[in-house]
Parts: sequence; structure tokens; C-alpha cells
Amino acid sequence: MKAALLTEPSKISISDMPMPVCGDGQVLVKISHVGICGTDTKIFDGGIPSNMPLVMGHEAVGEIVEGQAEDGSSPGDPVIIDPVLHCGNCFYCDKGDTHLCENGGLVGREVDGVFAEYFLAPAGNVFALGTKIDRAAAPLIQVMTTVLHAQNRAKIQTGEVVVVLGLGVTGLLQIQVAKALGAKVVIGVSRNAYKRGLADKMGADVTAEHGEDAKQKVLELTEGRGADVVIEAVGYISVLAEAMDIARIGGRIIPFGIYAALEGKLPFYQFYFKELNIINARAALPSDFPACIKLVEEGKVDLGPFITHTYSLDELSEAIKHLMAPSDERLKVILEV
Ligand SMILES: [Zn+2]
Ligand SMILES: [Zn+2]
Repeated sequence: MKAALLTEPSKISISDMPMPVCGDGQVLVKISHVGICGTDTKIFDGGIPSNMPLVMGHEAVGEIVEGQAEDGSSPGDPVIIDPVLHCGNCFYCDKGDTHLCENGGLVGREVDGVFAEYFLAPAGNVFALGTKIDRAAAPLIQVMTTVLHAQNRAKIQTGEVVVVLGLGVTGLLQIQVAKALGAKVVIGVSRNAYKRGLADKMGADVTAEHGEDAKQKVLELTEGRGADVVIEAVGYISVLAEAMDIARIGGRIIPFGIYAALEGKLPFYQFYFKELNIINARAALPSDFPACIKLVEEGKVDLGPFITHTYSLDELSEAIKHLMAPSDERLKVILEV
């Protein structure tokens, strides 16, 4: 089978690899579409260390060709792959926190991933997509599972005011999921007018620029209290500080961005005085997959507008470089296998 191998940092070679052999408890999936993610770009340039050669990629959909998934999916069925591996025997797995497994890992980072024609998945890591969902946009459901997992951990409730700081792919997904979970007002914040326009189309009730504009609008909409939940979807300490500033007393903050900075300024006094709850999410649970598939199927979350660029497997290197280049009008890049 054809696969894209990272042989050294920033070097991908399209190679012929042995066809995986399907064993007990496994499902062989013929990949059709894969999303490219920030994690892939960081593995590609060596920012995230990995054992090379490595097949990267962890956001895949396709069709079962052999084996049966635990959810009953069988050959011919369109499926999505849950890339979070777990052992089933450790302290965390016993508690049901399989996404925090001590012996686990991410497909395409710790083990070979899905930038390939076929992938052999554990039978519990494959979920039926159904036939109504557009396959080209479906890899985004994997990203959406982490968003839903974070919002479930923060217990977003009907009637709440939620602010999303940063309107990239995950920020825009956060908006749609918060509305689907019943948030009364969702405020999307970005410095970029194009992305604020997208947020308007995707269900944000109000949009604002970072800083004073966002703060004023939040205070107006909450009788001066501040937001119930603030989601930081950028990964900058300065934006996390903004989240702490606009959350209400007793509010919740989801620091969803991944922070590369080792130090920075935060309003620590507010952390104490407001009794803020900081709620993190590393990955998703298997149960988040059927839940997200249902939200997309019901039309509560629309993934179509996210796909702005498509490449072929042979063009993976160009696709990753495109994703790494600064751009204000690019959202999700998808690979057609
Ligand atoms: Zn990803
Ligand atoms: Zn485990």
C-alpha cells in the first residue's frame, strides 16, 4: 500500500509499505479522507519529537474492508477512526478515563498513522459514520470530539453565556458545539474580520475584537457580571489572561489552546478572588464519537464550511507547508487518499 513516510524532520517520502494483516480484535479500514492538524505540522518540523520513519496523521475516515468493529460496523460501512489508543488495564482505564491511559498514545505520533491507503485499527476505535454525513468533511469529527469532551467537562448548561476567544478551526467548532449544548449567548472573539464573519454564519450571537470591545460586549450581555464560561482557543498566555478577566465570579475557563510558552503574565489575584474553575481537556473519550456523529447528522453542527483546501496523498508535503504558512483565510486542509 501507498503511505507517506516522514523520514527526517521536514522530509516526506511517498513509499510502498506492506499491506497490514487484519487479526483478532482488529479492523482494516481503507482510508478515503484525512484531516491535517497542527500536531502533524509540529511532528513534521521536529517540534514534537517522534521516532522516524513515521506515518503521521490521526484524523481519518474511510470504509471497513475486513473485520468487525465493536459498535457492529462491518465491511462496506463508512467509519471514522478514534486515534486515541488505550490499554484497558491501567489505573486510568479502570476509572473510565481511557483518554488519559498511562500506556496509551496517539495514532500518527507514537505509532504509524493514517496518511496511508489502509489503517489497521483496534475494533473499539472504529465508529459508524452513517451515510448522511459528507465524507470529505467528516475527519473534522475527530477534532470535534475533543471540543465536545472539553465542553462536557465544563458542564455547559442551557441559558449560559459562553465566550470563545480565537476563531480558528477549533474556536469555530467550540461556537457550534456550545450552541448545540444550549448556550443562550455565544460570543466569538477574533482580531480577524473574516473569521468574525464566519463565526456569525456558524451561529455566534455576537462577535467582537479582543480587548475592550469583547469586555464591553460581555459585560453588557451579563448585567455586568462577566461570562459563565470562557474558552481560550488560541494557545497564548495573553489570551488566557483575557479569559480570566472576562469570566464572572465563579466562572469556568477552558484553556483549550496548547501553550508553548514557559512563562507569562496572568492575573493570579483574579484566579483566587473570582474562585475561577480552570477545566482542561487533553483528548476525547470513545463515547464522544457517536455523540458528535449524532450532532452532525442532526444538522446541529455544520462541518462543510470548514474545508477550504484539499490535496492528494502525494501532495502531503505541500499541504503541510501550506498549513504552516501564515494565512487569514484558511481553515481546514483535507487530504484525499
Ligand atoms: Zn488533530
Ligand atoms: Zn490504560
